[in-house]
Amino acid sequence: MYPIKAVADSKLTKSRGHYKGWLDVNRETMQHNVFKNVFGIGDICGTPLGKTVSSAAHQAKVVHINLLSDITQQRQQESYDGFSAYPIKTGYSEVIMAKFNYEDLTDSAINNAPNAAKKWWLSDVYEAKSDYWNKILKGGDSFTEVWFFI
Ligand SMILES: Cc1cc2nc3c(=O)[nH]c(=O)nc-3n(C[C@H](O)[C@H](O)[C@H](O)COP(=O)(O)OP(=O)(O)OC[C@H]3O[C@@H](n4cnc5c(N)ncnc54)[C@H](O)[C@@H]3O)c2cc1C
Repeated sequence: MYPIKAVADSKLTKSRGHYKGWLDVNRETMQHNVFKNVFGIGDICGTPLGKTVSSAAHQAKVVHINLLSDITQQRQQESYDGFSAYPIKTGYSEVIMAKFNYEDLTDSAINNAPNAAKKWWLSDVYEAKSDYWNKILKGGDSFTEVWFFI
């Protein structure tokens, strides 16, 4: 997996280390470590974990508040805890919804196969496509309605 070239070639990225070429943001505030008027959301961020729609939705909530605080020069800051959720198919009609964050990478949802649930499989097979076209692509509340709760 590589960062988008336009960003990787810019001065907005980390210049060395594991996240070289990825957006240089604080992993909790999502604010750029050098250019304070820049915030990051999504796959482009040089942060641990993430790289899911679910983490992007959770980051978006944090960025929304921190961006407004920055503009209005208030001190209130929200913190992203690294939450991410990802469906892992473990068999026919079984999906584990793995959930984890910066502190807890050993969530039982990842390690505990009995947590595999038919409801997530049904959601993946029957709801995902319609949610994608009707909610996610429209953004705003309908986007977070789908992705924020998991
Ligand atoms: C096969 C697959 C399955 C996945 N399944 C899941 C899942 O079940 N659940 C989940 O939560 N996540 C899943 N993901 C991850 C999820 O798709 C990504 O985390 C999410 O799309 C990231 O969104 P983003 O907006 O940060 O980046 P992207 O969706 O990659 O959007 C970046 C956009 O920038 C555009 N772009 C690139 N260069 C430029 C440029 N120079 N100028 C302008 N625009 C540019 C690209 O065309 C693209 O549209 C999956 C990913 C893959 C590949």
